[in-house]
Amino acid sequence: MQNKHMLMIPGPTPVPERVLLAMAKHPIGHRSSDFSKVIGELTENLKWLHQTESDVLMLTVSGTGAMEAGIINFLSPGDRVLAADNGKFGERWVKLCKAFGLNVEVISSEWGKPLKKEDFQEKLEADKEKTIKAVIMTHSETSTGVINDLESISKIVKDHGEALLIVDAVTSLGATNVPVDKWGIDVVASGSQKGYMIPPGMGFVSVSKKAWKAYETAKIPRFYLDLGKYKKETDKNSSPYTTPVNLMYGLQAALQMMKEEGLEAIFERHQRLTQGTREAMKAMGLPLFGPDHCASPAVTAVAPTMDAEKLRSTLRKKFDIAVAGGQDHLKGQIFRIGHLGFVCERDLLTVIAALEATLLDLGYEGLNPGAGVAAAAKVFN
Ligand SMILES: *Cc1c(COP(=O)(O)O)cnc(C)c1O
Repeated sequence: MQNKHMLMIPGPTPVPERVLLAMAKHPIGHRSSDFSKVIGELTENLKWLHQTESDVLMLTVSGTGAMEAGIINFLSPGDRVLAADNGKFGERWVKLCKAFGLNVEVISSEWGKPLKKEDFQEKLEADKEKTIKAVIMTHSETSTGVINDLESISKIVKDHGEALLIVDAVTSLGATNVPVDKWGIDVVASGSQKGYMIPPGMGFVSVSKKAWKAYETAKIPRFYLDLGKYKKETDKNSSPYTTPVNLMYGLQAALQMMKEEGLEAIFERHQRLTQGTREAMKAMGLPLFGPDHCASPAVTAVAPTMDAEKLRSTLRKKFDIAVAGGQDHLKGQIFRIGHLGFVCERDLLTVIAALEATLLDLGYEGLNPGAGVAAAAKVFN
């Protein structure tokens, strides 16, 4: 059947009809007074989402562009930085830092395990000369379904006093609590196709006062992603370059929806969806890839005792449900169910039931049909 596609990957995520309709308009001038009001509202609501009094800037880039802006505006070639790698996106931070000539020390954990705060503590406490300029990490590691303990690590960075804390919150913002000011996170990068519930195409960067100080002396070359220009224009409800006007109409509607639901309710929903998904997998005899205590609120990684790509393609063929596969060495080993953004209990009950039917079809060993749905329903009730 056509037009029954169900998108359950950790980005792009499903887009609400209200957002789609908001985008289905003729564009207006990005410097018109009408659009200036839209920029003003978006900026206010983005600060609400980030729980910050400081700046949140909108960029026409994917999430990686926001990450890049978060590096090049605040650091200089040769700067000593700690970058954390426990998955594909942590690895991306390391590559990005190296591409701009930073002196990178990598803090790593095995993919599927969380970062250890002691590793940060050791390096930062030993740095009496205060030569470490930044600590760079991923909050929710989408590739493995693991969330890192950003709150604890932020305290350690604060104790160091000098280093900036630069965070990829692409799949944690809008899914779990990321109180930017309270935790003292200097730079937060995110992207539109994840928790924001709008299509791909925009990136967001929050910038603390401390980060703006670093901006003044940072020497990595920058032009399009020079955040100083974005701040100057954003303060006047304008933008330095042409903005994706229609996507921003969508963002306006999405942020209004988020405000109507409320941050606490959004976080609770993601928590419930995560728990329901995990309990269902356990009941179905599908091993989870990472432990419960560091489960990402956005995505659950599952390591079936069969070819995960076969399972994924059968689910797609039979039910037109897209779940994500494993990346790099995890390809074929795991599949990942996205439950980020515009996702509700009904969606997951559907996915779990379809997964059970698929496993039945494939003769998965040890399957107890119906057990997954029952386990999820128990959590959702
Ligand atoms: C999706 C994602 C990104 C951004 O990827 P883009 O393809 O550049 O939008 C960055 N970090 C994490 C953790 C992600 O999940």
